[in-house]
Amino acid sequence: MKKWLKHKKSFLLVSSVFLLIIVISFLILFFQGPISSVQYLKSETEQLKIENDQLKEEIDGLRKDLAIKREHNDTIEHKKDTKKSELNDLHAQIESKRELINNLNEQIDNYKKQINQLEQKIEQKKNDNKAKTDPNGEKKVFLTFDDGPTSLTSSVLDILQKYDIPASFFVIGERMERKPKITQRAYNEGHMILPHSFTHEYSIYTSFDTFYKDFFLAEEAYRNTLQLEPPSIFRFPGGSSNHSSFEYGGEEFMPLLTEDVKDKGYVYVDWNVSSGDAGSNINDPTGMKNSIIKDSIDNDFIVLLFHDTGNNQALLEILPTVISYYKENDYTFRSFQDITDIELAEMKNRHIANKPINR
Ligand SMILES: [Zn+2]
Repeated sequence: MKKWLKHKKSFLLVSSVFLLIIVISFLILFFQGPISSVQYLKSETEQLKIENDQLKEEIDGLRKDLAIKREHNDTIEHKKDTKKSELNDLHAQIESKRELINNLNEQIDNYKKQINQLEQKIEQKKNDNKAKTDPNGEKKVFLTFDDGPTSLTSSVLDILQKYDIPASFFVIGERMERKPKITQRAYNEGHMILPHSFTHEYSIYTSFDTFYKDFFLAEEAYRNTLQLEPPSIFRFPGGSSNHSSFEYGGEEFMPLLTEDVKDKGYVYVDWNVSSGDAGSNINDPTGMKNSIIKDSIDNDFIVLLFHDTGNNQALLEILPTVISYYKENDYTFRSFQDITDIELAEMKNRHIANKPINR
């Protein structure tokens, strides 16, 4: 029995151990699946965490990118706005410039209108002046003496001084240079000295060259004698419509020459009353006086031609009478010294100055 019991105990021990092994194996088998599942899940979770972290990082990166892009976009929008406002400003400026141009154009139009009106007024004034010699209705006489200075000139000056009359002397350059003192006296006593020619030779009318050579010499003599610039008003030897030029420059010479001197800014002066003292009435005081009076009746604007040539004693005889005649008939004695624009215009209008020469 004891043996059996001993065997039974062993048997029980072995069985227990065996059973325990079976139970443990069973438990191992039973739990092995879930354990490995848990481990798998753990590692998966770990992996997912890593991926999650990576995605978070990527999202952060993208957010940053987005922020930068937004900022950039904002900058562009701002620039756009700035450009738009600049463009608007430019448009406004263009508009204001357009308005300015329109205003200026209007002003120009107004000025043009004003200029037209003024031109019309000037034309009207010119016509008024033509119709009326002098606003006061004054009668005027310009005494002119050609071809001096000579030995007669000082006597003429004495008479003019006595009657306190201003006159005009169209002088010959050569003679002026020979008699500077008398020329200077005439000027000092308030008379006007004007160029007539240097030589008074009619051969000066051969060509423009010969004419201007003489003419400029006369101007030079004027400067040398009086220390003054010669005036632009002068008288042609023989007058502007002389026939003495025919045998030199031909009939067409004076029409061409008169135009040329006008183009150069000169004014040539003739006369509308002649004493005839160098022609038909030479040495004939009565004839001279009659000619003058005949041409002075009903003439309120006179340029009278005398010659203070050396042998013209008749001039000295009649000059006081002629002066008295004009004084009695209420003429004002005028000279080229202080000739007015209106008077010069009147001379041109009456063809005493710048007379058109048509042949
Ligand atoms: Zn002359």
